[in-house]
Amino acid sequence: MFDFLLTPEQLALRDEAREMAKWVPRQYILDMDADKIKFPKEFLQECGRRNLLGLRLPKKYGGRGLGWVEDTLVAEEICVPGYAFGCVWGVGADIVCDAIVNFGSEELKEKYVVPLLKGEKFAAECLTEPRGGSDFFGATTTAVEDGDYYILNGQKRFIVGGEGADFFLVYAKTDPQGPPHKSMTCFIVDRDAGVKVEYLYGLMGCRGGGTARLVFEDVRVPKSNILGQVNGAAEVFYPMMIPERLGTAAMTIGAVRPALEIATDYTTKRKAFGTKIKNFQAVSFKIAEAVTKLDTSRAMIYCTARAIDAGVHPSRARRLVSEAKKFVTEQCWDVVNLCMQVMGGIGYTDVYPIEKILRDMRLSMIWVGTNEIMSLITQHEWYKERQNELLNSNKRDSEYDCVNAFAEGEKVYE
Ligand SMILES: Cc1cc2nc3c(=O)[nH]c(=O)nc-3n(C[C@H](O)[C@H](O)[C@H](O)COP(=O)(O)OP(=O)(O)OC[C@H]3O[C@@H](n4cnc5c(N)ncnc54)[C@H](O)[C@@H]3O)c2cc1C
Repeated sequence: MFDFLLTPEQLALRDEAREMAKWVPRQYILDMDADKIKFPKEFLQECGRRNLLGLRLPKKYGGRGLGWVEDTLVAEEICVPGYAFGCVWGVGADIVCDAIVNFGSEELKEKYVVPLLKGEKFAAECLTEPRGGSDFFGATTTAVEDGDYYILNGQKRFIVGGEGADFFLVYAKTDPQGPPHKSMTCFIVDRDAGVKVEYLYGLMGCRGGGTARLVFEDVRVPKSNILGQVNGAAEVFYPMMIPERLGTAAMTIGAVRPALEIATDYTTKRKAFGTKIKNFQAVSFKIAEAVTKLDTSRAMIYCTARAIDAGVHPSRARRLVSEAKKFVTEQCWDVVNLCMQVMGGIGYTDVYPIEKILRDMRLSMIWVGTNEIMSLITQHEWYKERQNELLNSNKRDSEYDCVNAFAEGEKVYE
């Protein structure tokens, strides 16, 4: 994040997060990338010890009661050793615990949030299914009422922390015949209630986060583990778009920042045709483009974080975080490609981490809703906003600021 926008307290927090990023042993990063580590418990335990989990959550549950600006600036730093660190850091504390704090009973907060923020328990979020992830409300995992319990059956796919988590936030159909938006319920499910890891994915990047397919076969979940209302999963899901998408966008900046630093240093040292390659505009302009893209992304994250902290209307929040997720992740993809390009052949090898950064961060355009789904939400919210604005606007109407603005016979719409 831009240091000139941060308060002394925020700068101190950023430095804490930088210390955390430096704590990660190099071999740990390599072992995760080699799939020798299946889930980075030690990393989360250390984050918990340093009180760097769930920064926005209330102090009484172990958080710090901070806002989105703080959360995003830490998310950036946490991802510097690798995108997978940010994924597991965000999913448990920022998404699952956020949902429990906002929609769970006091008992659930004590039982799940408190140990997770200490780094003693781990959690995963289960939305996506083998039949599809974009169509969230088309889920087919079912939960059938049975006395004081619900019985869950179904599968969830691509779950970060599927291997390693102690408990799961699971969305399931409780009224399969009902309207899709009122047919699902959100549950907290303990692993030892019978959740099985059926498949561990071989991933292009972002390895070591325990991404798995889970199977639920007659898993009994007490009714007291419901978040929100029965058939009220939508109320839980919509606000979760904020930590999912704003968090992902901020994380992606941190994941690619090292690529820019490495490429800048390399082009300062490397010579061709008797001169440093940064003296070729074809090289230094690519660095300029990458810097601009990262700074623009930071500006967008900061602005969005401030908007959410200020309590912007939920529809506007959904649009802003969706825009930010798509825009920032695409800018960051360009950044890492520009960095690889100016490094020539060596950028494509494992002598420098650029190729790993590229493999890792590619996920950012796919997960927590693909970038196409981000556009779907952005246009939906924007059209609604514009319609409301037309009813109550104090802005100049620019449509008539042209010579033939009143050629009504030419303004044909149907
Ligand atoms: C490494 C990894 C980790 C993940 N972690 C988690 C996790 O922890 N928890 C979890 O629940 N999920 C997780 N996911 C799942 C991820 O969020 C989904 O893969 C993603 O939402 C897309 O769903 P899908 O793969 O089923 O693709 P599909 O929904 O089948 O989409 C396929 C393509 O069609 C496009 N498409 C679909 N519908 C539309 C539409 N209406 N308009 C325009 N385009 C459309 C999509 O954009 C995409 O390009 C993870 C995925 C990966 C790869």
